[in-house]
Amino acid sequence: MKKYALVTGGSRGIGREICIKLSSLGYHILINYKGNEEQAIITQQACMANNVEAQLLKFDVANRDEIEKVLGAWVLAAEKNAIIEVLVNNAGIRQDTLLSFMSDEQWNSVIDTSLQGMFFVTRTVLNPMLMNRFGRIINIVSLSGLKGMPGQVNYSAAKAGMIGATKALAQEVARRNVTVNAVAPGFISSDMTADLDEKELSNMVPMRRFGKPEEVAALVGFLVSKDAAYITGQVISINGGLYS
Ligand code: NAP
Repeated sequence: MKKYALVTGGSRGIGREICIKLSSLGYHILINYKGNEEQAIITQQACMANNVEAQLLKFDVANRDEIEKVLGAWVLAAEKNAIIEVLVNNAGIRQDTLLSFMSDEQWNSVIDTSLQGMFFVTRTVLNPMLMNRFGRIINIVSLSGLKGMPGQVNYSAAKAGMIGATKALAQEVARRNVTVNAVAPGFISSDMTADLDEKELSNMVPMRRFGKPEEVAALVGFLVSKDAAYITGQVISINGGLYS
């Protein structure tokens, strides 16, 4: 049975580095992305350099019908030959503004991408994982979901929702050796943080720098390993000491 890892939002940033890390561990990779095919192909080539298969799966994680059509069809076709053993719910967006000025669209798009996306995608791949009696689900959340960040009520709510779901699902599936954990990064250099003043904000971080996507990927690599078998329902921060 071929073993796959699915990474949502795998085309860029943290998701790309997670794809590369998981490919280095021998997983075939399913790289989900929303629209940026050029970047997704760069991820694909980097994974293939580790001598595994890497397939592009384009769908919007906020769109249940698209997920059903693309991912649901993949799971159905795979049936006895392949299994998604690792799922990383990484796709996410920011739409920052103060709550008084927040539009319905700004609220909904952020919640739909992170929280709904996690629900739709996880539901689609969970049953085969349970039947496999081994699996790893990792939800990429944020410091904002733990601490709450002004200007990010939508994003903080979405990530806090994912944390609650992580803890609940972990208890539902533990008996089948499926672990469910959340990784909560602080400031990480990527397109998502490109508009921030990195120099200024680094002063708030005890380590005096932003983290690298590769550092988040290394943590995910540990959580998928057999060594992490007894860790489930946890939120693990990776933030240079910014918040604990
Ligand atoms: P990024 O560089 O902006 O990349 C976002 C990725 O998500 C892209 O691959 C994008 O695909 C994909 N994506 C966005 N909306 C999607 C949708 N509706 N359906 C499918 N894919 C979608 O972001 P990042 O910094 O790597 O962040 C990755 C995750 O880490 C996010 O969940 C973010 O909230 C979390 N995080 C980041 C930081 C940070 O400081 N960077 C801190 C804490 C948490 P396309 O390329 O096709 O657009």
